[in-house]
Amino acid sequence: MLQDILPHVYHSDYAVRKPGDDDIMILQKDNQVLLVSAPALAPSSDGMKEEQGGEAPDAGCGFQLPTVSLIRKYCPGAAEHAFYLFSIDEQGYYSAPASSWEQDLKKDGCGILVFKSVMVLREMEKAVCSFSGAVGWQLANWYDLHRFCGRCGRETVHSEQERAIICPSCGHAYYPRISPVVIIAIVNSDRILLTRYNRSGYRRHALVAGFVEIGETLEDAVRREVMEEVGLRVKNIRYIESQPWPFSSSLIAGFSAEVDGDPTVHLNTDGGEELSEAVWMERSEVEIEDGSISLTWDMIRKFKNGTL
Ligand SMILES: [Zn+2]
Repeated sequence: MLQDILPHVYHSDYAVRKPGDDDIMILQKDNQVLLVSAPALAPSSDGMKEEQGGEAPDAGCGFQLPTVSLIRKYCPGAAEHAFYLFSIDEQGYYSAPASSWEQDLKKDGCGILVFKSVMVLREMEKAVCSFSGAVGWQLANWYDLHRFCGRCGRETVHSEQERAIICPSCGHAYYPRISPVVIIAIVNSDRILLTRYNRSGYRRHALVAGFVEIGETLEDAVRREVMEEVGLRVKNIRYIESQPWPFSSSLIAGFSAEVDGDPTVHLNTDGGEELSEAVWMERSEVEIEDGSISLTWDMIRKFKNGTL
């Protein structure tokens, strides 16, 4: 899954430190992250490959996370105002406020440094790049969204003691927020309920899923989401595994649950109508459509292998 980066190790402890040339810089705006484009990494291109640390473009998506030395050349302001996010092994990951690099990037970065949707990171061949890029984007995005105090409107500052943002005027402290999500593998003897979402972008099968509401337990959320989306009652709710999912600032908890009573699906088509399809699939008919990084497909795979 996304977080499975062994033999690499993620170090999330907070620190205040300055970047070195070989560290990585995560610059983001909206749902995009700044990457080094493939042409800039090609061997023939003018020394750029060396500047980026001799790395080839990622075979999966053709992009790479920029090193601090490359950012220092095109966006010196970003390197100067860099703040620490986390480390993977010994390599530090940093970000910088947009005000320190936006003007620089307009001048020289075009064609070499490009903003791409954060979802591109899912296609990266190296798991460690997908994970670190996505977690870096999530943290950098959180800092960006808390530049001003939600209580009094004053500009905030970074705490030097812990991962927090402090309002110097009213003293309020903001900590990173993670939104819990439940994903449910609903089973009925030898069948699993596979769904498909209406929203564009992901056309493979999925499982029933949703955000936990304030005041709910995870199990409450499982029961509510299943009833809301497919009109089924469930029992024997069992925790399977979890996964950080930076793309929606979530922590996903995966559960299995058995149908309690009538297995006839009643798809919710009111208002938002999240699902376009929900079908019972025999274990032998389940096809692994997605070999990648999501908990959904890890649970579907476990069902198929009889290990859920
Ligand atoms: Zn305030």
